[in-house]
Amino acid sequence: MSDPDLAGLRDLAGLAERLAAVRSGIAAAAASAGRDQRDIVTVVVTKFHPVTLIEQLVALGVHDVGENRHQEAQAKVEALAGLDLTWHFVGQVQGKKAKQVRAYADVIHSVDRASLVDALSSESDVIDCFVQVNLTDDPARGGVDPGLLDPLVERVLSTSGLRLLGLMAVAPLGEEPRRAFARVRELGERIRLLAPEAKFLSMGMSQDYPEAISEGATHLRIGTAITGNRPVPG
Ligand SMILES: *Cc1c(COP(=O)(O)O)cnc(C)c1O
Repeated sequence: MSDPDLAGLRDLAGLAERLAAVRSGIAAAAASAGRDQRDIVTVVVTKFHPVTLIEQLVALGVHDVGENRHQEAQAKVEALAGLDLTWHFVGQVQGKKAKQVRAYADVIHSVDRASLVDALSSESDVIDCFVQVNLTDDPARGGVDPGLLDPLVERVLSTSGLRLLGLMAVAPLGEEPRRAFARVRELGERIRLLAPEAKFLSMGMSQDYPEAISEGATHLRIGTAITGNRPVPG
């Protein structure tokens, strides 16, 4: 380990190997669900990792990356401005940071309340977003209660500067992930009565992406299965 270049190469080989394993897992899950894997976007969640990891991912053909903390995301977007990346913001958005997040993010996965919709409105450009649904009974988890979903969707639709892609969710602990994702799929069918274009589903992480694919996920948010363990947050 004395040669830093050698250590770097070893890291890159490990990353390439994990990425290839996840890509073949996605292909297998898509095939068994009778789906075309080209309909599935893999967002690699790079939170807590350095920008060098994102550069390595780009070298391995990754285009979509996800971050969940505003300051970290903003710094990374700035540092990597020269790269052809689509930035997904997957964390909770504070109302007072909303305008800043929309300035650098390409897609926001975590729209979960009316006040945030209002804070994200814009007359000058349009940003893609998902409404996040909370599948637990714990409001701190983020996401709108399914019972309040329809009015929130209507609010997004009547707000300028937002294009609704669909729904986002995290499978709760203690529930079979496939059942949780089936609930999201059904909610997605329901909101399409209000928003026929909102046909995408952001769901599935390192531990449960095959189940999410079975239930129609179009955007997977995968971290550790590709990046390896996250460094302790600084
Ligand atoms: C961190 C994170 C992920 C990725 O989680 P892994 O278990 O590492 O795949 C996905 N979605 C959100 C919202 C996250 O914060």
